[in-house]
Amino acid sequence: MRREIFTEEHEAFRDMVRSFIAKEVTPHHEQWERDGVVSRDVWLAAGRQGLLGIDVDERYGGGGNTDFRYYLILDEELARAGAHGPGFAVHNDINGSYLIRLCTEEQKQRWLPGYCSGEIITAIAMTEPSAGSDLQGIKTTAVRDGDDYILNGSKTFISNGILADLVIVVAKTDPSAGAKGVSLLIVERGMTGFERGRNLDKVGLHAQDTAELFFDDVRVPSANLLGEEGMGFIYLMQNLARERLSIGAAAVAGAEAAFERTLEYCKTREAFGRPIGKFQHNRFTLAEMKTELTVARAFTDKCVLADAAGELTAEEAAMLKYWNTELLKTVVDRCVQLYGGYGYMTEYPIAKAYQDARIHTIFGGTTEIMKEIIGRSLGV
Ligand SMILES: Cc1cc2nc3c(=O)[nH]c(=O)nc-3n(C[C@H](O)[C@H](O)[C@H](O)COP(=O)(O)OP(=O)(O)OC[C@H]3O[C@@H](n4cnc5c(N)ncnc54)[C@H](O)[C@@H]3O)c2cc1C
Repeated sequence: MRREIFTEEHEAFRDMVRSFIAKEVTPHHEQWERDGVVSRDVWLAAGRQGLLGIDVDERYGGGGNTDFRYYLILDEELARAGAHGPGFAVHNDINGSYLIRLCTEEQKQRWLPGYCSGEIITAIAMTEPSAGSDLQGIKTTAVRDGDDYILNGSKTFISNGILADLVIVVAKTDPSAGAKGVSLLIVERGMTGFERGRNLDKVGLHAQDTAELFFDDVRVPSANLLGEEGMGFIYLMQNLARERLSIGAAAVAGAEAAFERTLEYCKTREAFGRPIGKFQHNRFTLAEMKTELTVARAFTDKCVLADAAGELTAEEAAMLKYWNTELLKTVVDRCVQLYGGYGYMTEYPIAKAYQDARIHTIFGGTTEIMKEIIGRSLGV
Protein backbone atom coordinates (compact mmCIF):
# COMPACT_ATOMS: atom_id res chain seq x y z
CA MET A 1 0.00 0.00 0.00
CA ARG A 2 1.17 3.48 -0.79
CA ARG A 3 1.88 5.54 2.29
CA GLU A 4 0.01 8.81 2.31
CA ILE A 5 1.54 10.68 5.19
CA PHE A 6 4.64 12.11 3.54
CA THR A 7 5.19 15.02 1.16
CA GLU A 8 7.93 15.45 -1.44
CA GLU A 9 9.99 17.32 1.18
CA HIS A 10 9.76 14.34 3.48
CA GLU A 11 10.86 12.00 0.72
CA ALA A 12 13.81 14.25 -0.18
CA PHE A 13 14.75 14.24 3.50
CA ARG A 14 14.52 10.43 3.53
CA ASP A 15 16.92 10.24 0.57
CA MET A 16 19.36 12.50 2.40
CA VAL A 17 19.08 10.36 5.55
CA ARG A 18 19.74 7.19 3.54
CA SER A 19 22.90 8.73 2.06
CA PHE A 20 23.99 9.86 5.52
CA ILE A 21 23.52 6.37 6.96
CA ALA A 22 25.31 4.75 4.00
CA LYS A 23 28.28 7.10 4.42
CA GLU A 24 28.53 7.86 8.13
CA VAL A 25 26.88 4.94 9.93
CA THR A 26 26.89 1.60 8.10
CA PRO A 27 30.65 1.46 7.36
CA HIS A 28 31.46 1.93 11.06
CA HIS A 29 28.68 -0.05 12.70
CA GLU A 30 30.52 -3.33 13.16
CA GLN A 31 33.41 -1.54 14.83
CA TRP A 32 30.97 0.28 17.12
CA GLU A 33 29.39 -3.06 17.98
CA ARG A 34 32.81 -4.33 19.04
CA ASP A 35 33.44 -1.11 20.99
CA GLY A 36 30.01 -1.16 22.64
CA VAL A 37 29.58 2.49 21.75
CA VAL A 38 29.49 4.73 18.67
CA SER A 39 32.11 7.39 18.03
CA ARG A 40 31.42 11.01 18.89
CA ASP A 41 32.23 11.76 15.24
CA VAL A 42 28.91 10.36 14.04
CA TRP A 43 27.12 12.74 16.41
CA LEU A 44 29.06 15.67 15.00
CA ALA A 45 28.39 14.48 11.45
CA ALA A 46 24.67 14.24 12.24
CA GLY A 47 24.82 17.75 13.67
CA ARG A 48 26.48 19.09 10.53
CA GLN A 49 23.87 17.34 8.39
CA GLY A 50 21.05 19.00 10.35
CA LEU A 51 19.75 15.72 11.80
CA LEU A 52 19.88 16.82 15.44
CA GLY A 53 17.51 19.39 16.90
CA ILE A 54 15.37 19.61 13.78
CA ASP A 55 12.56 21.06 15.89
CA VAL A 56 14.78 23.51 17.77
CA ASP A 57 14.47 27.18 16.92
CA GLU A 58 17.00 28.37 14.34
CA ARG A 59 18.25 30.98 16.84
CA TYR A 60 19.90 28.12 18.76
CA GLY A 61 21.23 26.29 15.69
CA GLY A 62 18.23 24.04 15.14
CA GLY A 63 16.19 23.31 12.04
CA GLY A 64 13.17 25.35 13.12
CA ASN A 65 10.80 22.65 11.88
CA THR A 66 8.40 21.13 14.41
CA ASP A 67 7.06 18.43 12.09
CA PHE A 68 7.78 15.25 14.07
CA ARG A 69 7.70 13.15 10.90
CA TYR A 70 11.28 14.16 10.13
CA TYR A 71 12.44 12.41 13.28
CA LEU A 72 10.30 9.39 12.48
CA ILE A 73 11.88 9.15 9.04
CA LEU A 74 15.31 9.17 10.68
CA ASP A 75 14.14 6.49 13.14
CA GLU A 76 12.69 4.37 10.33
CA GLU A 77 15.81 4.55 8.20
CA LEU A 78 18.14 3.70 11.09
CA ALA A 79 15.89 0.75 11.96
CA ARG A 80 15.80 -0.41 8.32
CA ALA A 81 19.58 -0.27 8.19
CA GLY A 82 19.81 -2.24 11.45
CA ALA A 83 21.81 0.71 12.81
CA HIS A 84 20.87 0.72 16.47
CA GLY A 85 24.10 2.29 17.66
CA PRO A 86 23.52 6.02 17.34
CA GLY A 87 21.13 7.04 20.12
CA PHE A 88 19.63 9.85 18.06
CA ALA A 89 16.04 8.94 18.91
CA VAL A 90 16.63 9.34 22.64
CA HIS A 91 18.33 12.68 22.00
CA ASN A 92 15.94 14.06 19.38
CA ASP A 93 12.56 12.48 19.89
CA ILE A 94 12.61 12.25 23.67
CA ASN A 95 15.09 14.58 25.35
CA GLY A 96 14.64 17.43 22.88
CA SER A 97 10.96 17.70 23.80
CA TYR A 98 11.89 18.30 27.44
CA LEU A 99 14.58 20.84 26.63
CA ILE A 100 12.56 22.83 24.10
CA ARG A 101 9.46 22.92 26.24
CA LEU A 102 10.94 23.42 29.68
CA CYS A 103 14.26 25.27 29.40
CA THR A 104 14.45 28.90 30.43
CA GLU A 105 15.95 31.32 27.90
CA GLU A 106 19.27 31.16 29.74
CA GLN A 107 19.24 27.35 29.69
CA LYS A 108 18.36 27.30 25.99
CA GLN A 109 21.32 29.51 25.18
CA ARG A 110 23.59 27.36 27.32
CA TRP A 111 22.63 23.95 25.98
CA LEU A 112 20.70 24.00 22.73
CA PRO A 113 23.50 25.05 20.33
CA GLY A 114 25.66 22.10 21.49
CA TYR A 115 22.62 19.84 21.50
CA CYS A 116 22.03 20.67 17.81
CA SER A 117 25.68 20.43 16.75
CA GLY A 118 26.20 17.03 18.39
CA GLU A 119 28.76 18.40 20.84
CA ILE A 120 26.33 17.91 23.73
CA ILE A 121 24.95 14.35 23.76
CA THR A 122 21.98 13.82 26.03
CA ALA A 123 20.45 11.03 28.09
CA ILE A 124 17.41 10.69 30.31
CA ALA A 125 17.69 8.84 33.60
CA MET A 126 14.45 7.59 35.09
CA THR A 127 15.06 3.91 35.81
CA GLU A 128 16.77 2.78 39.01
CA PRO A 129 17.95 -0.65 40.13
CA SER A 130 14.80 -1.04 42.25
CA ALA A 131 12.30 0.95 40.16
CA GLY A 132 11.56 0.75 36.44
CA SER A 133 7.89 0.31 35.61
CA ASP A 134 6.98 1.73 39.01
CA LEU A 135 8.55 5.16 38.51
CA GLN A 136 7.00 6.56 41.64
CA GLY A 137 9.17 4.12 43.56
CA ILE A 138 12.43 5.91 42.68
CA LYS A 139 14.80 6.62 45.56
CA THR A 140 17.10 9.27 44.07
CA THR A 141 16.71 12.48 46.06
CA ALA A 142 17.57 16.10 45.42
CA VAL A 143 17.54 18.12 48.62
CA ARG A 144 17.60 21.91 48.41
CA ASP A 145 20.65 23.53 50.00
CA GLY A 146 20.86 27.27 49.38
CA ASP A 147 21.07 27.81 45.65
CA ASP A 148 21.82 24.16 44.91
CA TYR A 149 20.25 20.74 45.09
CA ILE A 150 22.26 17.92 46.66
CA LEU A 151 21.64 14.88 44.47
CA ASN A 152 22.05 11.33 45.76
CA GLY A 153 21.10 8.02 44.20
CA SER A 154 21.75 5.80 41.23
CA LYS A 155 20.22 5.02 37.85
CA THR A 156 20.57 2.04 35.58
CA PHE A 157 20.01 0.99 31.94
CA ILE A 158 20.56 4.56 30.72
CA SER A 159 20.83 4.85 26.93
CA ASN A 160 23.67 7.14 25.78
CA GLY A 161 24.85 6.76 29.37
CA ILE A 162 28.56 6.60 28.56
CA LEU A 163 28.62 9.36 25.95
CA ALA A 164 26.15 11.73 27.59
CA ASP A 165 27.31 15.23 28.44
CA LEU A 166 23.94 16.26 29.79
CA VAL A 167 21.58 13.96 31.68
CA ILE A 168 17.97 14.73 32.55
CA VAL A 169 17.73 13.11 35.97
CA VAL A 170 14.42 12.27 37.60
CA ALA A 171 14.69 12.82 41.35
CA LYS A 172 12.50 13.32 44.39
CA THR A 173 12.69 16.87 45.67
CA ASP A 174 9.93 16.12 48.21
CA PRO A 175 9.84 12.41 49.07
CA SER A 176 6.70 12.89 51.20
CA ALA A 177 4.64 14.31 48.31
CA GLY A 178 4.38 11.21 46.08
CA ALA A 179 4.13 12.01 42.37
CA LYS A 180 3.99 15.72 43.20
CA GLY A 181 7.43 15.57 44.79
CA VAL A 182 9.29 14.55 41.60
CA SER A 183 11.47 17.03 39.67
CA LEU A 184 13.81 16.99 36.67
CA LEU A 185 17.40 18.16 37.11
CA ILE A 186 20.09 18.57 34.48
CA VAL A 187 23.34 16.92 35.51
CA GLU A 188 26.35 17.80 33.39
CA ARG A 189 29.52 15.88 32.61
CA GLY A 190 32.24 16.68 35.12
CA MET A 191 30.03 17.63 38.08
CA THR A 192 31.75 16.45 41.27
CA GLY A 193 30.19 13.24 42.58
CA PHE A 194 28.66 12.24 39.23
CA GLU A 195 30.19 8.90 38.16
CA ARG A 196 29.36 6.40 35.45
CA GLY A 197 29.39 2.68 36.01
CA ARG A 198 30.30 0.18 33.37
CA ASN A 199 28.92 0.08 29.86
CA LEU A 200 26.36 -2.71 30.34
CA ASP A 201 26.73 -5.95 28.40
CA LYS A 202 23.45 -6.55 26.56
CA VAL A 203 21.72 -9.29 24.54
CA GLY A 204 21.53 -6.93 21.54
CA LEU A 205 22.00 -3.26 20.60
CA HIS A 206 25.72 -3.88 20.93
CA ALA A 207 26.78 -0.54 19.44
CA GLN A 208 24.55 1.40 21.81
CA ASP A 209 26.03 2.49 25.14
CA THR A 210 23.81 1.70 28.11
CA ALA A 211 25.14 2.57 31.53
CA GLU A 212 24.67 2.85 35.24
CA LEU A 213 24.96 6.36 36.68
CA PHE A 214 25.84 7.24 40.27
CA PHE A 215 25.22 10.48 42.11
CA ASP A 216 27.04 10.99 45.36
CA ASP A 217 26.32 14.39 46.94
CA VAL A 218 26.33 16.02 43.51
CA ARG A 219 25.81 19.77 43.93
CA VAL A 220 23.42 20.68 41.10
CA PRO A 221 22.76 24.43 40.81
CA SER A 222 19.09 25.38 40.94
CA ALA A 223 19.78 27.00 37.54
CA ASN A 224 19.80 23.38 36.28
CA LEU A 225 16.26 22.63 37.42
CA LEU A 226 14.19 21.79 34.34
CA GLY A 227 10.74 23.37 34.47
CA GLU A 228 9.09 23.75 37.85
CA GLU A 229 9.96 21.90 41.02
CA GLY A 230 7.46 19.13 41.74
CA MET A 231 6.18 18.96 38.16
CA GLY A 232 8.56 16.22 36.99
CA PHE A 233 6.04 13.40 36.96
CA ILE A 234 3.57 15.40 34.91
CA TYR A 235 6.30 16.35 32.42
CA LEU A 236 7.23 12.67 32.07
CA MET A 237 3.64 11.63 31.45
CA GLN A 238 3.22 14.38 28.84
CA ASN A 239 6.25 13.16 26.89
CA LEU A 240 5.74 9.43 27.04
CA ALA A 241 3.25 9.29 24.14
CA ARG A 242 5.87 10.70 21.77
CA GLU A 243 8.48 8.28 23.08
CA ARG A 244 6.12 5.37 22.42
CA LEU A 245 5.25 6.65 18.97
CA SER A 246 8.98 6.68 18.11
CA ILE A 247 9.59 3.19 19.44
CA GLY A 248 6.48 1.84 17.69
CA ALA A 249 7.34 3.49 14.37
CA ALA A 250 10.91 2.22 14.45
CA ALA A 251 9.69 -1.26 15.42
CA VAL A 252 7.41 -1.67 12.42
CA ALA A 253 10.10 -0.29 10.08
CA GLY A 254 12.60 -2.78 11.49
CA ALA A 255 10.08 -5.61 11.10
CA GLU A 256 9.37 -4.64 7.49
CA ALA A 257 13.08 -4.65 6.71
CA ALA A 258 13.53 -8.08 8.30
CA PHE A 259 10.58 -9.38 6.32
CA GLU A 260 11.79 -7.99 2.98
CA ARG A 261 15.25 -9.45 3.53
CA THR A 262 13.76 -12.82 4.41
CA LEU A 263 11.41 -12.82 1.45
CA GLU A 264 14.42 -12.43 -0.87
CA TYR A 265 16.17 -15.24 0.95
CA CYS A 266 13.13 -17.50 0.54
CA LYS A 267 13.21 -16.89 -3.20
CA THR A 268 16.85 -17.88 -3.56
CA ARG A 269 17.56 -20.52 -0.93
CA GLU A 270 16.70 -23.97 -2.27
CA ALA A 271 15.80 -27.22 -0.55
CA PHE A 272 14.41 -30.38 -2.09
CA GLY A 273 14.97 -28.83 -5.53
CA ARG A 274 12.97 -25.65 -5.11
CA PRO A 275 13.11 -22.26 -3.40
CA ILE A 276 12.06 -22.65 0.25
CA GLY A 277 9.38 -19.97 -0.23
CA LYS A 278 7.55 -22.37 -2.54
CA PHE A 279 6.67 -24.74 0.31
CA GLN A 280 3.15 -23.95 1.34
CA HIS A 281 3.97 -23.65 5.02
CA ASN A 282 6.63 -21.04 4.31
CA ARG A 283 4.47 -19.23 1.78
CA PHE A 284 1.72 -19.00 4.38
CA THR A 285 4.19 -17.77 6.97
CA LEU A 286 5.29 -15.02 4.58
CA ALA A 287 1.67 -14.22 3.71
CA GLU A 288 0.75 -13.93 7.39
CA MET A 289 3.69 -11.65 8.13
CA LYS A 290 2.95 -9.47 5.12
CA THR A 291 -0.67 -9.10 6.24
CA GLU A 292 0.22 -8.33 9.84
CA LEU A 293 2.79 -5.76 8.76
CA THR A 294 0.37 -4.09 6.38
CA VAL A 295 -2.23 -3.77 9.12
CA ALA A 296 0.36 -2.46 11.60
CA ARG A 297 1.63 0.03 9.04
CA ALA A 298 -1.87 1.42 8.53
CA PHE A 299 -2.37 1.98 12.26
CA THR A 300 1.13 3.41 12.64
CA ASP A 301 0.64 5.99 9.94
CA LYS A 302 -2.73 6.91 11.42
CA CYS A 303 -1.01 7.50 14.76
CA VAL A 304 1.68 9.63 13.06
CA LEU A 305 -1.02 11.83 11.55
CA ALA A 306 -2.89 12.00 14.86
CA ASP A 307 0.33 13.13 16.52
CA ALA A 308 0.89 15.78 13.84
CA ALA A 309 -2.62 17.06 14.56
CA GLY A 310 -1.91 17.07 18.30
CA GLU A 311 -4.53 14.36 18.82
CA LEU A 312 -2.57 11.22 19.66
CA THR A 313 -3.76 9.97 23.05
CA ALA A 314 -1.68 8.17 25.65
CA GLU A 315 -3.80 5.05 25.09
CA GLU A 316 -3.30 5.07 21.33
CA ALA A 317 0.44 5.53 21.75
CA ALA A 318 0.42 2.62 24.20
CA MET A 319 -1.50 0.45 21.69
CA LEU A 320 1.00 1.29 18.98
CA LYS A 321 4.00 0.54 21.17
CA TYR A 322 2.50 -2.71 22.44
CA TRP A 323 1.36 -3.95 19.04
CA ASN A 324 4.34 -3.01 16.92
CA THR A 325 7.02 -4.14 19.32
CA GLU A 326 5.33 -7.51 19.89
CA LEU A 327 4.95 -7.83 16.12
CA LEU A 328 8.64 -7.02 15.61
CA LYS A 329 9.53 -9.77 18.07
CA THR A 330 7.42 -12.42 16.35
CA VAL A 331 8.39 -11.35 12.83
CA VAL A 332 12.15 -11.55 13.44
CA ASP A 333 11.69 -14.86 15.23
CA ARG A 334 9.83 -16.32 12.23
CA CYS A 335 12.40 -14.85 9.86
CA VAL A 336 15.22 -16.54 11.76
CA GLN A 337 13.35 -19.83 11.37
CA LEU A 338 13.08 -19.30 7.62
CA TYR A 339 16.82 -18.67 7.42
CA GLY A 340 17.52 -22.02 9.08
CA GLY A 341 20.99 -22.28 10.65
CA TYR A 342 22.17 -19.13 8.91
CA GLY A 343 19.59 -17.21 10.90
CA TYR A 344 21.54 -18.05 14.03
CA MET A 345 24.85 -16.70 12.72
CA THR A 346 25.52 -13.15 13.86
CA GLU A 347 27.28 -12.37 10.60
CA TYR A 348 23.78 -12.45 9.09
CA PRO A 349 21.77 -9.24 9.63
CA ILE A 350 18.67 -11.28 10.49
CA ALA A 351 20.46 -12.74 13.53
CA LYS A 352 21.39 -9.25 14.69
CA ALA A 353 17.83 -8.08 14.09
CA TYR A 354 16.68 -10.93 16.34
CA GLN A 355 19.03 -9.85 19.13
CA ASP A 356 18.20 -6.17 18.73
CA ALA A 357 14.43 -6.70 18.61
CA ARG A 358 14.06 -8.28 22.02
CA ILE A 359 14.36 -5.11 24.08
CA HIS A 360 11.59 -3.27 22.28
CA THR A 361 8.77 -4.82 24.31
CA ILE A 362 10.60 -3.80 27.50
CA PHE A 363 12.06 -0.31 27.24
CA GLY A 364 9.92 2.80 27.00
CA GLY A 365 7.38 0.94 29.16
CA THR A 366 6.83 -2.81 28.99
CA THR A 367 4.01 -4.46 27.06
CA GLU A 368 2.31 -5.20 30.36
CA ILE A 369 2.41 -1.52 31.35
CA MET A 370 1.04 -0.60 27.91
CA LYS A 371 -1.86 -2.97 28.51
CA GLU A 372 -2.40 -1.38 31.93
CA ILE A 373 -2.66 2.06 30.32
CA ILE A 374 -5.08 0.80 27.67
CA GLY A 375 -7.06 -1.26 30.17
CA ARG A 376 -7.47 1.60 32.63
CA SER A 377 -8.90 3.77 29.84
CA LEU A 378 -11.63 1.15 29.38
CA GLY A 379 -12.86 1.81 32.88
CA VAL A 380 -11.92 -1.65 34.16
C1 LIG B 1 18.68 -1.35 26.55
C2 LIG B 1 17.86 -0.57 27.52
C3 LIG B 1 17.80 0.81 27.39
C4 LIG B 1 17.07 1.56 28.32
N1 LIG B 1 17.11 2.93 28.25
C5 LIG B 1 16.63 3.65 29.29
C6 LIG B 1 16.86 5.04 29.37
O1 LIG B 1 17.50 5.66 28.50
N2 LIG B 1 16.38 5.72 30.45
C7 LIG B 1 15.67 5.10 31.44
O2 LIG B 1 15.27 5.76 32.39
N3 LIG B 1 15.43 3.77 31.39
C8 LIG B 1 15.89 3.03 30.34
N4 LIG B 1 15.69 1.68 30.29
C9 LIG B 1 14.92 1.05 31.35
C10 LIG B 1 13.57 0.48 30.89
O3 LIG B 1 12.68 1.52 30.57
C11 LIG B 1 13.05 -0.42 32.01
O4 LIG B 1 13.89 -1.56 32.02
C12 LIG B 1 11.61 -0.82 31.82
O5 LIG B 1 10.76 0.28 32.00
C13 LIG B 1 11.18 -1.93 32.79
O6 LIG B 1 11.57 -1.64 34.10
P1 LIG B 1 12.35 -2.75 34.97
O7 LIG B 1 13.50 -3.21 34.15
O8 LIG B 1 12.63 -2.19 36.30
O9 LIG B 1 11.33 -3.95 35.09
P2 LIG B 1 10.21 -4.13 36.22
O10 LIG B 1 9.46 -2.87 36.37
O11 LIG B 1 10.85 -4.70 37.43
O12 LIG B 1 9.27 -5.22 35.54
C14 LIG B 1 9.56 -6.60 35.58
C15 LIG B 1 8.39 -7.34 34.94
O13 LIG B 1 7.21 -7.09 35.73
C16 LIG B 1 6.20 -6.57 34.88
N5 LIG B 1 5.38 -5.60 35.62
C17 LIG B 1 5.80 -4.54 36.35
N6 LIG B 1 4.74 -3.86 36.81
C18 LIG B 1 3.64 -4.50 36.36
C19 LIG B 1 2.23 -4.28 36.49
N7 LIG B 1 1.74 -3.24 37.16
N8 LIG B 1 1.40 -5.15 35.87
C20 LIG B 1 1.87 -6.21 35.18
N9 LIG B 1 3.18 -6.46 35.01
C21 LIG B 1 4.05 -5.61 35.60
C22 LIG B 1 6.93 -5.89 33.74
O14 LIG B 1 6.09 -5.76 32.60
C23 LIG B 1 8.09 -6.88 33.53
O15 LIG B 1 7.64 -7.93 32.75
C24 LIG B 1 16.36 0.91 29.35
C25 LIG B 1 16.40 -0.48 29.45
C26 LIG B 1 17.16 -1.22 28.57
C27 LIG B 1 17.27 -2.69 28.79
